[in-house]
Amino acid sequence: MDCIPDDLSRARGLCHIPALFGLAMPGDVFQIGEPEKMDYPVSSKVASLTPSVTLAISAKAKALKQQGLDIIGFGAGEPDFDTPQHIKDAAITALQNGFTKYTASSGTPELRQAIVRKFQRDQGVSYSADQIIVSCGGKHSCFNVLFAVCNPGDEVIIPAPFWLSYPEMVVLAGATPVILNTNDQNGFKITPDQLRQSISSKTKILILNSPSNPTGTVYTPAEIRALADICLENNVLIMSDDIYEKLVYEDAVHTCPASISPEHKNITIIVHGLAKAYSMTGWRIGFLAAPLPIAEAIDALQSHSTSNPTSFAQSGAVAALDGPQDHLPIWKEEFNIRRLRALEILNSMSGISCFPSTGAFYLFPNISQTGMKSGEFCEKMLEKVQVAAVPGSAFGSDDHIRLSYATSLAQIEKGLTRMSDFVASLQ
Ligand SMILES: *Cc1c(COP(=O)(O)O)cnc(C)c1O
Repeated sequence: MDCIPDDLSRARGLCHIPALFGLAMPGDVFQIGEPEKMDYPVSSKVASLTPSVTLAISAKAKALKQQGLDIIGFGAGEPDFDTPQHIKDAAITALQNGFTKYTASSGTPELRQAIVRKFQRDQGVSYSADQIIVSCGGKHSCFNVLFAVCNPGDEVIIPAPFWLSYPEMVVLAGATPVILNTNDQNGFKITPDQLRQSISSKTKILILNSPSNPTGTVYTPAEIRALADICLENNVLIMSDDIYEKLVYEDAVHTCPASISPEHKNITIIVHGLAKAYSMTGWRIGFLAAPLPIAEAIDALQSHSTSNPTSFAQSGAVAALDGPQDHLPIWKEEFNIRRLRALEILNSMSGISCFPSTGAFYLFPNISQTGMKSGEFCEKMLEKVQVAAVPGSAFGSDDHIRLSYATSLAQIEKGLTRMSDFVASLQ
């Protein structure tokens, strides 16, 4: 069984976030002095967090841009398209109609019904509205699931490369991440044997994220079924993060474990949101569908933490789910053109290989033949040719970097040509 990668454990205890959660313990002593020099007594839970590397790289790229440098950024974790107009109009109308007060903590009845219809339409799975909880983004939905389900000592299985927030959230929830490594050769997918061997009496949840951030990999229906069957046999829940459901290319199809059978549905918690397929990252609307007792626990948790997600953003969300979907094929076509062009340029670089993944808007090229680790590679590339990418170390693989193709074709061609020059200069 694999365990917490070095990076993660090394990073624990290194960062200091002043007074975010600021949890003082009885008996803690404040050191009085200049505020920025004060030793703030942050909780050990929060002191152990690694700040999001994706956000750190974006900040560095932005700072260099402000110095007048022509930076090309491949760090984006969000679509470069605007939110469709009819969605904005619905939120504006809601605001103008005075829809500006608290709603039910778990979301408006209208939105929860629209989400019920979405799962029926797209996955063929029936939920009742009380099994749906709307939260402040898909990330918040993941957080709620892990907090509502995990006890100290529980193990949560996370395939690597992983979305960087999963292990952090698991640790915050008091549970232990069990990381399963994958590589380019197996298409960044865990195998049924690997899963079986990693399950212990403490295993609570398997996290699946297909299409994946950061690799873009998409499991086939048979592969999802094989993994879900093992979970069913072993009483392990599945948290299926389906945020990239709609962004699949070529012959890839998204499969939600809940759609396999009623038994599979009973062990699956679907985490979803509007951020990626509707370009609504700033709206902060995510949602989940869960077995009723879990949904009720999450409802209670949310009622004492954030309460409802923003009222008028929920009105926009109803329009997103129930309204026209014709932006989607257009965006997908554009993403696919960029994906193919990026793959073409990457594969022409000697010393770089890239798995041709068919989902989300990320590619995850292997840079290990350059002899550099991902952090050094990204830092040097930014310095030498002003191209920003995210080191794979943030996602549990130091042999890769993450490139987002949520940027224009012109930027992709210009940026990857520079990367090509940079790689050539290393030989
Ligand atoms: C973007 C993303 C989410 C959700 O993002 P929100 O902005 O919080 O809705 C969830 N999981 C993965 C893997 C993502 O990349």
